[in-house]
Amino acid sequence: MDKEDSDNVKVVMRCRPLNEKELKQGCVIAAQVNELNGSITITNPKASVDDPPKQFTFDYVFGPNSKQVDVYNKVARPIVDSVLSGYNGTIFAYGQTGTGKTFTMEGKRDVPELRGIIPNSFAHVFGAIAKAETNVLFLVRVSYLEIYNEEVRDLLGKDQTARLEVKERPDIGVYVKDLASFVVHGADEMDKLMTYGNKNRVTGATNMNEHSSRSHAIYTVTVEGSETLHDGEKTFRQGKLHLVDLAGSERQVKTGATGIRLQEANKINLSLATLGNVISALVDGKSTHVPYRNSKLTRLLQDSLGGNSKTLMIANIGPADYNFDESVSSLRYANRAK
Ligand code: ADP
Ligand code: MG
Repeated sequence: MDKEDSDNVKVVMRCRPLNEKELKQGCVIAAQVNELNGSITITNPKASVDDPPKQFTFDYVFGPNSKQVDVYNKVARPIVDSVLSGYNGTIFAYGQTGTGKTFTMEGKRDVPELRGIIPNSFAHVFGAIAKAETNVLFLVRVSYLEIYNEEVRDLLGKDQTARLEVKERPDIGVYVKDLASFVVHGADEMDKLMTYGNKNRVTGATNMNEHSSRSHAIYTVTVEGSETLHDGEKTFRQGKLHLVDLAGSERQVKTGATGIRLQEANKINLSLATLGNVISALVDGKSTHVPYRNSKLTRLLQDSLGGNSKTLMIANIGPADYNFDESVSSLRYANRAK
């Protein structure tokens, strides 16, 4: 690996505002965001003299008043641009349940200014295609899956009870066998598939909130471009964009889970820890071993993490005092991945 690998990985933080309930309860803000110098300072609400505030610095930090469009333009846009040029890219939302992962990735799709990274990337991709030279033809495909308990489910597939296998072939690398993929011609079609996949996520689950906090959702957009040059020769490029809403990072084992719940919790912890190890190995640039194979998530995304691929991790925290322990844990995770 060389220096380029580490430049291709960015880790940023986003802190949501206090919500109404927290305001009513009079929660105190423990996390102070300084967008100008990219730092977050967090203070233990039960602070004693020997527990001073801790400061963490990142490539970018987004405070409680950050706008969806600013997050998109500052950190997501460059990745989508590079996918349009034929490179792979992955955007992750990390954090405790309730801190804004889904708000950051999906947002409120029916309110233009509240649209998150996923719908903004749809508009970006088809906007760029509309402006492209006439000698370039594009083909856009999407797929949508979730990893729950280390099992892969196709959210756009016909059979929602099927569990898919992750396979590898020398010519195409790692892939999910039998995963449905749809050719789309506009942002509205991509949006419809997302809605359809989200419905499948809900129907498979008894409790949507709990389910989404325990599974990773990966929406993948593949952009192929074929260009006819002046001499009639054709060039071909393909870029893949993975948009990942990760399982909640809260330490589930501590909540007293037993049996299947504990097993699930261990699998979530393992896959998030592996992702952290992979990203930190890529940033470090000197590691000879990147542990992709230790979880389904990293194995599946292997060809889009490292090398020429661009990776963005947005770690989300809540600002309130009662979130202190989880927020520190997320800040440390992101700081290590950085
Ligand atoms: P997660 O997916 O991490 O569990 P959500 O994205 O569902 O969390 O966010 C929890 C709640 O907080 C939602 O009601 C969401 O609309 C709100 N929220 C999250 N981030 C922000 C933000 N930056 N600005 C305003 N509201 C937010
Ligand atoms: Mg969510």
